[in-house]
Amino acid sequence: MAGSAKAAIQRPRGTQDVLPGAVYVWEYVENAIREVCRRYHYLEVRTPIFEHTELFERTTGETTDIVEKQMYTFRDRGGRSLTLRPEGTAPVVRAYLEVPERPLLPWKVFYLGPMFRHERPQAGRFRQFVQFGVEAIGADDPALDGEVIALADDLFARLGLEGLSVHLNSIGCPRCRPSYREALLSYFRGREGLCADCRRRLEVNPLRVLDCKEASCRALAEEAPRPTDFLCPECREHFDGVQAFLRHTGIPFVLAPTLVRGLDYYTRTVFEIMHGALGAQNTVCAGGRYDGLVEQLGGDPTPGVGFAAGLERLITTLELEGRLPPPPTEVQVMVAYAGNAARPVALDILYRLRRSGWQADIDYLGRSLRAQMKQASRLGAPLVAMVGEDEVASGEVTVRDMRTGEQVRVPLEELEVTLRRIAPTT
Ligand SMILES: [Zn+2]
Ligand SMILES: [Zn+2]
Repeated sequence: MAGSAKAAIQRPRGTQDVLPGAVYVWEYVENAIREVCRRYHYLEVRTPIFEHTELFERTTGETTDIVEKQMYTFRDRGGRSLTLRPEGTAPVVRAYLEVPERPLLPWKVFYLGPMFRHERPQAGRFRQFVQFGVEAIGADDPALDGEVIALADDLFARLGLEGLSVHLNSIGCPRCRPSYREALLSYFRGREGLCADCRRRLEVNPLRVLDCKEASCRALAEEAPRPTDFLCPECREHFDGVQAFLRHTGIPFVLAPTLVRGLDYYTRTVFEIMHGALGAQNTVCAGGRYDGLVEQLGGDPTPGVGFAAGLERLITTLELEGRLPPPPTEVQVMVAYAGNAARPVALDILYRLRRSGWQADIDYLGRSLRAQMKQASRLGAPLVAMVGEDEVASGEVTVRDMRTGEQVRVPLEELEVTLRRIAPTT
């Protein structure tokens, strides 16, 4: 505050405040997510914000960037290492394994909430960000891969996004991937131009080189051997099944032979949904199958498939495309009064309106009637209910339609009928 002796405390870097006037945008997207998930019979699951660090070490692999430099890890008073969740899938699988009674399969859930990564600050990247994702655990039917893609596609269509494309690939399974890895290794070993990170990662996990964003690595990746040339018959059949499902349900897709996930528990289907408006950062949703994950977290071998989408990027895309709805009315009726004698009557009116469901408010700064009208107009209130000495004496109230400036004076008992007649849609 100006004039204060102490410096104001600012929010931590990489975080944002969603201020009251902008929250409706988030609610709009969240409501669409909840509605579409319900239609596909995915139920919400809410897992803790922090987990044992080991959960993410075991799932993301100790060599990945997430573990190397991006996790918010701390020790609690008991000396345990805890981590603010950097992603949603591992917590969901952990929760699945802790369901007291074996759940009906497939276990189809979605999550929606904040995740945390220690990103270098840059445009569109936050250290606390919101992710939405779905997971279907317990079936390897290719139609289930198709279902999560269809759900994402449906959601984006419902939000009015156009120009989306589904990019699809298969990265095989533990039986067929070793031969692909070998082919990839010998391809990259024979070439110059990998970045320092990739040279280090190559021997540990050559698939991760295909994920690299460096231009020189991307150029090499374009010509690299493709996982679909190494699929075993079962994986080939599964991949054909996913494509047949998408064709059958009318969801257009393109094959993306270099699209991979670098972690061992990812299997078979990999997909991303891209949007053209965001330039380089055009993935609005990324997902795939992870048939090895449940086992990696200590469960019986259990297949699974899902995706995650960042809400910040989705909202930015909706903004760029002009697809956000107008802000809702905050105050439907502003109650205004002139003179101290009218104030108790105005308060009665205010509370009567609120109790019967109106969004109503009143001035608290002792403004003049003229200033109260100005305030009502700034708040976008379509209606004002006014009382002055005259109205108090006659048991009436003056209703002003802020859009036309017209006023009517009616008995107090007719106030609500009059409000509804003047502005039936508010
Ligand atoms: Zn295979
Ligand atoms: Zn690289």
